Amino acid sequence: MDTVTSGENLRLMAVHAHPDDESSKGAAATAKYVAEGTDVLVVTCTGGERGSVLNKALDRPEIWENIAEIRRAEMDAAREILGIRQAWLGFVDSGLPEGDPLPPLPEGCFALADMDEAVGRLVAQVRAFRPHVMTTYDENGGYPHPDHIMCHKISVAAFDAAGDPDRYPEAGEPWQPQKLYYHVGFNKERVTSLHEGMLAEGLESPYAEWLEKWEDREDRAALITTRVPCGDYFAVRDDALRAHATQVDPEGFWFRVPLSVQQKAWPTEDYQLVRSFVDPDAVEDDLFAGVRESVDA
Ligand SMILES: [Zn+2]
Repeated sequence: MDTVTSGENLRLMAVHAHPDDESSKGAAATAKYVAEGTDVLVVTCTGGERGSVLNKALDRPEIWENIAEIRRAEMDAAREILGIRQAWLGFVDSGLPEGDPLPPLPEGCFALADMDEAVGRLVAQVRAFRPHVMTTYDENGGYPHPDHIMCHKISVAAFDAAGDPDRYPEAGEPWQPQKLYYHVGFNKERVTSLHEGMLAEGLESPYAEWLEKWEDREDRAALITTRVPCGDYFAVRDDALRAHATQVDPEGFWFRVPLSVQQKAWPTEDYQLVRSFVDPDAVEDDLFAGVRESVDA
């Protein structure tokens, strides 16, 4: 058996709720793996039909009227920039319910989909693409959007079912991915580090207010098992995010933090390993740690 030193023959599946999530969560790590030759498939659960238009310049009736098609075109552009493959799972965006009391979820939306049906569709994608590693959101969805929570649920269920020949026999030949990870996005440690990085450069930090209001609960930084160095790909991540033009505010503070500050303060994208069929390293810097060695070159 040869050791795989490049990413060749390795496959990564990232399951996301909406078009644009792949460009904000793990996007730089994705771009790095693509550059190494890894085959990356993003599965997008919904079409993002109920997303808001966050770009003031594009908040126009003709945009809202065609939002589904526009978001598909934006996804095509982001896919090209990231160098990934992408598949739609075909569910309809649930929207982010707002108000007190919260309004009911719209009929036919992803969050209300039949679990068995939704997991079956994802199992079919897993068995067709045969990823070694899968990524998704934590049990809170990373942030509590009903589609993100549903994305979490079906990803975990599909990871557990895909290798079992008795489950979803119509969905293809069984295939068991070796590892499952949750994204660990913003946490207090990271935001503090970026905040201090801005101040050290004599720049105004956009994080001060956020940090002041940060509730003292368990910091998700403590859950990180795997830090993937990908600072060289932050620019690719931002380009991909900008391709989702209706969904990002180009004046937003995200784009005001210079890449050089980000690369110095927090040059990784971080993950929590939650399932593994290989012996995990104590501290990982690679989603394929333990897998890379076992895949034939
Ligand atoms: Zn989303």
